[in-house]
Amino acid sequence: MSRLVVVSNRVAPIQEGQPTTGGLAAGVLDALKKKGGVWFGWSGDIAATSSNKPTARQKVGPITLYTVDLSRRDYDEFYRGFANDTLWPALHYQIGLGRFDWNEFAGYRRVNELFARALAPVIEPDDIVWAHDYHLLCLAESLRELGVHNRIGIFLHTPFPAPPVFMTVPAHAELIKAMCQYDLVGFQTETDRAGFADYVVRHCDGELIGHPRDGLTLRAYGRVIKTGVYPIGVHVDEVRGQAKAQANRRHADRLMASLRHRQLIMSVDRLDYSKGLKQRFGAFERFLEDCPAARGGVTFLQIAPPSRSDIQTYREIRHELEGEAGRINGRFAEIDWMPLRYLNRSFPRSALMPLYAVADVGLVTPLRDGMNLVAKEYVAAQDPADPGVLVLSQFAGAAFELDAALIINPYDMVGVAMALDRGLSMRLEERQERHASMMQVMRRNSLDAWRDRFTADLTG
Ligand code: UDP
Repeated sequence: MSRLVVVSNRVAPIQEGQPTTGGLAAGVLDALKKKGGVWFGWSGDIAATSSNKPTARQKVGPITLYTVDLSRRDYDEFYRGFANDTLWPALHYQIGLGRFDWNEFAGYRRVNELFARALAPVIEPDDIVWAHDYHLLCLAESLRELGVHNRIGIFLHTPFPAPPVFMTVPAHAELIKAMCQYDLVGFQTETDRAGFADYVVRHCDGELIGHPRDGLTLRAYGRVIKTGVYPIGVHVDEVRGQAKAQANRRHADRLMASLRHRQLIMSVDRLDYSKGLKQRFGAFERFLEDCPAARGGVTFLQIAPPSRSDIQTYREIRHELEGEAGRINGRFAEIDWMPLRYLNRSFPRSALMPLYAVADVGLVTPLRDGMNLVAKEYVAAQDPADPGVLVLSQFAGAAFELDAALIINPYDMVGVAMALDRGLSMRLEERQERHASMMQVMRRNSLDAWRDRFTADLTG
C-alpha cells in the first residue's frame, strides 16, 4: 500500500489523544494516523543557516514528522516576502496591497528547492506526495529536477484568481509552469479551478483533454495535469460536541451573563485585510443607523487575533480597525451598553465553539477567502432545535456550499445591514430549515470526503 507523504509550510505539533486543530491539520492527521506516513515542513525555527537535510525527526505513532529550519534571509524572502506579501494578496484579489521583488521570488524558489532536497531521500517508490498551499507552488518542479517520479499533488487552500489578476505577479509564468509539474492540482471551488485552467489554456498553449469523473485534465509543457475541486470540510459532530461540552463553557457563560439577554452577532477572523473587517465594521455601523430599535439590544463581538504582524500592511489594518472600533463605540455606546466588543486575541478552538453556539448571528464577510472554516464551524456548533443564522459573503469558498445562509456582498454595507436585521428577527422555522439544509451539505462534503477524494484522484 502506498504511503502518504504530506508537505506543508509548517508541521503542526501533534499530541496523541488531543482534539484536532484547524482544517489542514485535522484533515491530514486522520489519514496519516490511519495509514501511517510522513509529514514534512518547516519547524518554525530560525537558524543561522537553512538546512537541506531534515533537522529533526520525530515518530508519533505511525506518523514520522520531519522538519527543517530556515535562515533569517530565507524566512524573510520566502515566507514573509514572496509568499505572504506578494502571493497572498494576489491570490485574494487584493492587488493594490501586494509588492513584488525578484530577489524574494528567488528566495521562494530556493526554499522550495531546499524542501525538495531534504524531502527527496525520504520518499519511497510507491509513496504519494501531497503538498499544501501557496507556499509550495514550485515544490513538484524541484522534486522532478531531483528525479522524483512519484505521484505529486497540491491542494490550494486559498482562492486562485482570474488570469489577469494572477498576471499582476511578474513571476506568474514561472509559477504556472512550476504548478504544471504536479500530477494533480486541487482547489476549493470551481471558480478557483477555472482561473487556473483558463490561464493554462489561454497563456501556456495548454489543451483541455477531458473531464474524467468530475475532474478536468489539462495538457501543458508536455505533461498531463489533473485538476479537481475539493471543498475542505469540518468534523461537524466533533464541533457540536465541543460546543456543548460543559468543560469548554467558561468563556461562553461569562459572555452570556454579560449580555443580559441582548442578542449577539459574532465574527472570528485572523486580523487580515482579506477578511473584510473594515467593511464589516462599517456595515454594523450602518445597521445601528438604519435600525434604531436595535440600539441597546444587540452586541457585536469581533474576535480578531493578530497575524503576520511583521508585515506592514497587517500593522496598518490593525491600527485602522482600532480607530474604527473606538469611533463606532464612541458614537453609539450608552452608559450600560457597548455595541462593539473588539478582542485582539486568540481563543483555543474548544472555547470558541460554545461561543459560536450562543451567537444569534454568525457574521462572516471576507472580501475573498479560500473556504472560511469559521462559517462552517459556526453552523456545525448550533443547536438544531434553535439555531442561529449565518450571514455569509458570496466571496467565501463556503458560499458555494452553504447557499442556505443569508448570502451578502461584503462591499455592500446596506445589504449587510439589512441581512443583520433579517437574521436577528428570523422565525424559528426558517432558521431550522436553513440550518438543516447547510448541515446536510456539510455532512456530505465532510473532511473525510475531502481527503479521500483528493488522495484517490492523486493515486488513480
Ligand atoms: N481559530 C481559533 N482561535 C481563534 C481564531 C480562530 O482556533 O482565536 C480557528 C477557527 O476556529 C478556524 C481557523 O482558526 O478553524 C481559521 O480558519 P479560516 O478558514 O476561517 O481562516 P484562515 O485563518 O485559515 O484564513
